[in-house]
Amino acid sequence: RQAIIEQRFEKLNARQREAVFQTDGPLLILAGAGSGKTTVLINRIINLLRFGQGLTDPFAPEWATDDDLLFLAEYLNDPKPENRARAEHLCAVRPAKPWEVIAITFTNKAARELRERLELALGDEEAASAVWAYTFHTACLRILRRHVDLLGFESAFTIYDEDDKKRVITNVMKKLNLDPKTFDPRTVMGMISRAKDKLMTPKQFAADAAGDYFREKVSDIYRQYEKEMKKACALDFDDIIMKTVLLLQNNPEVLEFYQHKFRYVLVDEYQDTNYAQYVLTSLLAGYYENICVVGDDDQSIYKFRGATITNILEFEKQFKDAKTIRLEQNYRSTGNILNAANEVIRNNVGRKGKELWTDHGAGAKIKLHRSDSQEGEAGYIADTIREGVEQGRRWGDFAVLYRNNVLSDNIAAAFIRAGVPYRVYKGRDFFSRAEIKDMFAYLWMIENPADELRLRRIINVPARKIGDKSVETAMQAAVENGVTLYDVVCHASGYPALSRGAAAMEKFGEMIENLRRLREFVSLSELYDELLDKSGYLRALQLKGGAEEESRIEHIEELKSYIVDYEEKNENPSLGDFLENMALYTDADQSGEDEDAVIMMTMHAAKGLEFPVVFLAGMEDGLFPGFRAMEKEEDMEEERRLCYVAVTRAKEQLYLTCAERRLLYGRTQYAHPSRFIDEMPEELLDSNIVESRRFSAATAPDPTLDRPQVMRARYVSAGAAKPGASVAPAKPAVPLPDYAAGDRVRHRAFGDGMIVSVKPMGGDALLEIAFDQKGTKRLMAKSASLFMQ
Ligand code: ATP
Ligand code: MG
Repeated sequence: RQAIIEQRFEKLNARQREAVFQTDGPLLILAGAGSGKTTVLINRIINLLRFGQGLTDPFAPEWATDDDLLFLAEYLNDPKPENRARAEHLCAVRPAKPWEVIAITFTNKAARELRERLELALGDEEAASAVWAYTFHTACLRILRRHVDLLGFESAFTIYDEDDKKRVITNVMKKLNLDPKTFDPRTVMGMISRAKDKLMTPKQFAADAAGDYFREKVSDIYRQYEKEMKKACALDFDDIIMKTVLLLQNNPEVLEFYQHKFRYVLVDEYQDTNYAQYVLTSLLAGYYENICVVGDDDQSIYKFRGATITNILEFEKQFKDAKTIRLEQNYRSTGNILNAANEVIRNNVGRKGKELWTDHGAGAKIKLHRSDSQEGEAGYIADTIREGVEQGRRWGDFAVLYRNNVLSDNIAAAFIRAGVPYRVYKGRDFFSRAEIKDMFAYLWMIENPADELRLRRIINVPARKIGDKSVETAMQAAVENGVTLYDVVCHASGYPALSRGAAAMEKFGEMIENLRRLREFVSLSELYDELLDKSGYLRALQLKGGAEEESRIEHIEELKSYIVDYEEKNENPSLGDFLENMALYTDADQSGEDEDAVIMMTMHAAKGLEFPVVFLAGMEDGLFPGFRAMEKEEDMEEERRLCYVAVTRAKEQLYLTCAERRLLYGRTQYAHPSRFIDEMPEELLDSNIVESRRFSAATAPDPTLDRPQVMRARYVSAGAAKPGASVAPAKPAVPLPDYAAGDRVRHRAFGDGMIVSVKPMGGDALLEIAFDQKGTKRLMAKSASLFMQ
């Protein structure tokens, strides 16, 4: 039997196997990038489910069928202590049941991959999906939903995203007569978020703020904000964690249930957990203490969101019997890439310190390419990828990573011109569109009519002759009568103050009520169709019929595809569950992942992932590291960790690209190559920069840089850039693609079409385009947002 088990995990190295077989007790796996931490985590679960503690336990049962366990259960209450002890022991070493395992990952995508790999290994879909492989937020929502009554909410709860949250905060500030110029809502939001990360209630926040005028006011906002959220039965993202912790802390029987349920608790990317998440994991693992956390202090990149590296550094102190296993062999990258990463991260002072090695050989040098402009950079990336594909790579082997999403448009434009298929991951872009938020507001209303914010958003969208004044009056009436705004709206004619708007309000209320009833009888997608119709939303757009409205209609239809997709993937689809899913959704979760396309995403989003070829674009001081980070050593260290994460995503080839001149936020800026590049040993680089410009430039060398600067020759602007069709002309004017009659283009709203004529006008061009579906239209090239096909 032992042999079978050993064989099952023979691909792992000795240290990794040790981590897999260390089934019980607290375990910390602390290791650098690409050393197989996630791999170990998955194999650990497989071992737990298949074999349990078997390998390390001399008394391990040779059997563990369900019948055996039933038999065991009888002995657990046997009057003879030796029988009981034996039965308890056998219970402790038996293989785990899938529902006894909770594995927390950082993204939904990672959770899904984990489930898929379990399914593959176990050959049992049901078992794989019974494991709680979730993100913190999804796991907490599952818990919260089951115990919603204990939260003091009257109905199903609503989730507010950052945008909703800002609205509530702004409303609260208005009520409290606080000037948004002094109290920037974003700053206030951040402070409240950080308070919740630390599990601080408004009361504690107030106590902490005493004497500090600004914080005292924020504490007033926080208190009022919580009241509004409670009234609306709403939770924000931070609440999802904090309220779960409070639920467990205040309800011993609930806590006991989950503590006994989860025999094994595992957390990946533990270095990016915040205090609330730390408390949560500790609570869940509080009974068995079979907790395994996996992480890398050098990859902690979410400090700005409240993550604290203390969690990982103090693990051994927190759990006295904790075992720590370090992995040092990197299986992902070639030597040059790994060395570059090691050398960069070495400059951080506050770290535990570890070195990675690989037996993959040095591999290709890291390519450093500086272009004269951002178009040059984008063109270089596009051309290089095309060449790679001609030589046999897939598009999907390439990833372009950047510090900041603003860089993506320019690169995407070059990809379109060069015919490179790509996919940009932008988080929740789609969900922040006004029409999509409107649709979700309707859906949330159907789920939870107490949601005042959503009600106010849509009560007059489309226009229903319900003015702001009437809504204000209704809100007052609600406060005076101690009922919800929705209640007032539904019975508006009973409130004399509402006289004129009453009929329209009641009609609106009736529409929502009808939809609420309907949802018991129809599928989600049918409900959605009905909503589009009965709300009059679709008709209002169709009546207007402009380009803008056309594109909104497209998005509304696109949302339907999310609903259908959800219905297909879930056995018991429900509106509440769908809305929760969508609240936590990012476009990285989208299906269609198998399509062969270049991946574009931020460095943050790439955490945990790997690609054969990686481009790090915009490697310039000011962009990466960002200007603000350069002022503070602590922030520089966080940026440097991000650089370490980014570099270590590459398996075979790494490209660092930068531009001498870049148009950003409407201004042309000149930049030096990133100081992180200087931290990489020159012999690892194959560079087109021949001499450092850092010292020749107007700015003095940065005194915070204690390493001697590698002198590199001046960039030879004309010769070095690869002359390619997509490299823009040297003119720094705003780039316009070279449109020509006969080109096929795509417009967001009008669809596909062909350019009939191009007439240059100033720095722009008037295009006449014959659209396949929508007839001929004349558009200005710059504002038309066309895509070349
Ligand atoms: P990160 O810090 O980036 O999250 P990680 O430590 O989680 O990285 P993994 O993603 O688990 O590392 O593994 C990196 C790569 O190495 C994967 O492609 C994995 O399949 C491979 N790998 C891990 N362990 C071994 C092994 N023992 N033999 C061969 N390949 C391995
Ligand atoms: Mg990992």
